[in-house]
Amino acid sequence: MNGSEKGLFNYREKCYTKEMSNCLFCKIIAGEIPSKKLYEDDEMLAFYDINPMAPVHFLVIPKKHIENLFVLDESDAALVGRLFIKARELAKERGCEEKGGRFVINAKTDGGQTVDHLHIHFLGGRALGWPPG
Ligand code: 5GP
Ligand code: ZN
Repeated sequence: MNGSEKGLFNYREKCYTKEMSNCLFCKIIAGEIPSKKLYEDDEMLAFYDINPMAPVHFLVIPKKHIENLFVLDESDAALVGRLFIKARELAKERGCEEKGGRFVINAKTDGGQTVDHLHIHFLGGRALGWPPG
């Protein structure tokens, strides 16, 4: 995204860049695609994964379209911190504090990222294997 495209970003007034209009998670944020929401505020959304890999599997995403962790700007550091704090809170609410779980960010091709909008997965409710496949 270049500077002028960045200037177009305004999810409240539904002004999207071309990149965002092709993005599945931006469509979920806009309500164009339904999701089972756990939490929403001005800057983030949490919803259950459509294809859960564990008894508890949800995603926490910024409303700002950030493609992946490699293009994260320094100025978004606090936002990403808040995404993790919210993921932890939601995991706790679902009974996953005692035994824990996994907070995961897949990035780009080798990381297995399939949706190019930054997201934290939380997986819990069962023992998870390591190393990943
Ligand atoms: P990634 O592979 O990029 O790390 O994770 C993308 C996740 O988004 C996958 O776990 C996938 O199941 C989930 N996903 C893909 N499409 C949808 C959808 O339309 N709704 C929901 N709730 N999750 C989705
Ligand atoms: Zn997006």
